[in-house]
Amino acid sequence: NPPLSAIGQQMSHLSGVRAIMKDIIETLHAHKGKELINLSAGNPLIVPEVEQLWRDCTQELLASSEYGQVVCRYGTSQGYEPLIEAIVADFNRRYDLNLTEKNVLITPGSQTLYFYAANGYAGLTESGEMKQVVLPLSPEYTGYGGISLHPDMVTAYRPRLDIDVARHRFKYRPDFEQLKIDQSTGCVIFSRPCNPTGNVLTDLEVRQIADQALPYGVPVFVDAAYGPPFPSLNFTELNPIFGSNLVHCLSLSKAGLPGERVGVAIGDASLLRVLEAFQTNACIHASRYGQAIAALAIANGALAQVSTEVIRPFYQAKFTILESTLAEYLSPELPWFLHQGEGGIFAWLWLQDLPISDWELYQRLKQVGVIVVPGSSFFPGLREDWPHKQECIRISLTAGDTEIATGMKRLAQTIIQVYQEA
Ligand code: PLP
Repeated sequence: NPPLSAIGQQMSHLSGVRAIMKDIIETLHAHKGKELINLSAGNPLIVPEVEQLWRDCTQELLASSEYGQVVCRYGTSQGYEPLIEAIVADFNRRYDLNLTEKNVLITPGSQTLYFYAANGYAGLTESGEMKQVVLPLSPEYTGYGGISLHPDMVTAYRPRLDIDVARHRFKYRPDFEQLKIDQSTGCVIFSRPCNPTGNVLTDLEVRQIADQALPYGVPVFVDAAYGPPFPSLNFTELNPIFGSNLVHCLSLSKAGLPGERVGVAIGDASLLRVLEAFQTNACIHASRYGQAIAALAIANGALAQVSTEVIRPFYQAKFTILESTLAEYLSPELPWFLHQGEGGIFAWLWLQDLPISDWELYQRLKQVGVIVVPGSSFFPGLREDWPHKQECIRISLTAGDTEIATGMKRLAQTIIQVYQEA
């Protein structure tokens, strides 16, 4: 093999959850035919109404005179014009904004957008400084761990915990006494609702982060891959926040289009220009077929409607099954705490003073036919030792209702055993 550059090395690392996914795929393969409840996946389920929506939009596109323009021609790097127009009109009406076409950039999936942001705004400056990508609240989306072209460019902050002992619930809060955003910061990123925890930062918390970044001209990317108006996977009220240094980022992946790779950045035109230039160099533009069907579904309101009427209740019902099953089978005297389920497609369980590591618990659960993701993969950029990192697991809601109930029953029994053995 030819020797790799430093960047080649950095990009070849299997970061975060991808390392564990390899083990999960091997486990699934080895158990072929046997019943395994897989609660590890981040891949959304195919919801019939959502599939139908995309099928209808595809048929409309096929029948229109636009078809050739969409698939037989290159477009602009900024994105397919009718999609940009549809987003501008939708957001201006919905949130009472004054966006123009210059405030929107379409990328091939939102992961790409964070890659551009991390390396466009953070990293090595011309004066030799290493600017950081700051994640204000850890745990966070594991995908942020792999977006930087240089090592040690992502810095995350340990949160405060609000614990409701009686209800076995908790919630992470940003620790503003520790959080450092200053001239050493290149950009700030956080997911809202959060993957893996289901946390939704409050409006006040978002504003406080943005205010802290503003004097240093630091852009703040709010990753709304699970937020409103699509896929609207928020189970509590959530207002998107806009501001001069805030970039609101959407993804159509959890609205049924992960295969088409459509991400959207909405924000100040000068902030988006840097990302657009990056995109021109990297891939010219996102696929126009996905953009064209998205334009139709956003312009006629169908996507926002299916999001609140179908997608949200679909996953919210699964979260309810998960919490009620855990409450039924986990002993009330054990120190288990489920993160407040405020949105997203995952549940996050903290087992305080767990006698074994999260990785060992993952192995024990495999033995009873249940696969979850060990929590320690979700702390990208948090370098300090903190036992909490080894006391959590992420449970996906992308499974059948019975599978979730059975999985949670077995999980509860295993957890009880583990504490008893200690
Ligand atoms: N952000 C969060 C919080 C995610 O969970 C994901 C995918 O799971 C992404 C971004 C990337 O999504 P995509 O690139 O498909 O838009």
